[in-house]
Amino acid sequence: MDILTMPGQVAGGKVWIVGAGPGDVDLLTVKAYRVLQSADVVLFDALVSSEIMALIPASAEKIAVGKRAGLHSAAQSEINQLLVTKAYTRKNVIRLKGGDPFIFGRGGEELQTIVEAGLDFEVIPGITAASGTAAYAGIPLTHRDYAQGVSFITGHCQLASRPMDWRGYANPNNTLVVYMGILNANIIKTGLLDAGRAPDTPVAIVSKATTQDQRTFIGTLSNIEQLAADPELVMPALMVIGDVVALADSLNWFKPQVVQSTNLTKQIK
Ligand code: SAH
Repeated sequence: MDILTMPGQVAGGKVWIVGAGPGDVDLLTVKAYRVLQSADVVLFDALVSSEIMALIPASAEKIAVGKRAGLHSAAQSEINQLLVTKAYTRKNVIRLKGGDPFIFGRGGEELQTIVEAGLDFEVIPGITAASGTAAYAGIPLTHRDYAQGVSFITGHCQLASRPMDWRGYANPNNTLVVYMGILNANIIKTGLLDAGRAPDTPVAIVSKATTQDQRTFIGTLSNIEQLAADPELVMPALMVIGDVVALADSLNWFKPQVVQSTNLTKQIK
């Protein structure tokens, strides 16, 4: 869809692409908080917590444009158009996104539209789910005794044009963080095992990380499907795969509710 602008007219507004962080309201940046105070209109995702929404002035127009797996409440092209249209009529147009806008957030696509439309803009980073989850679940993603690197990957796995690099992800010295992977746990497991990653590689699935409802489900790659199917697991949830996950046992400090999901017995204090 082509984006409609108003030829000959300059949009007076500024678009702010803002990361809201992973959930805990205190993880919002000071800059994001400041900009939200001056919002005239906020286009927000379903992932943005209600506590953060409560910080937005009552006078600001709030437009939900969230997407959930399989349920598109607004097509991306509509969101893009809305950002541009609002910039012609409002001063501060905030696009508020969960986590960081440039990590699996389509912030890049939205920014391309904004640049094409010639709008004034700024991007404010947010704490991405991987960082929030790692900190609050006690999983140092690159602890040097266990990992030389970390990869953030999408578990959506459906792009035939860009197949998953399972061989690369199977490197035992690399921590994997899988966004949007819960529904594809079997594909992730098969891909990694077939590429040689050890079946006993520790796995954590952390749901609603950094919020009071955070739950951590610990297991191994061989039983990742059972972890992902746990009835207590609430979206959004993130997978962390790698030896560093074993550290959660001793480093976990927040809302101590680690559930050993495979044998479903052990609660770690
Ligand atoms: N831009 C966001 C990611 C959007 S993709 C960011 O930087 O965090 C959405 C995925 O992020 C979810 O499917 C889930 O895997 C992950 N996610 C986001 N918030 C989360 C949270 N509080 N706890 C666990 N996973 C989360």
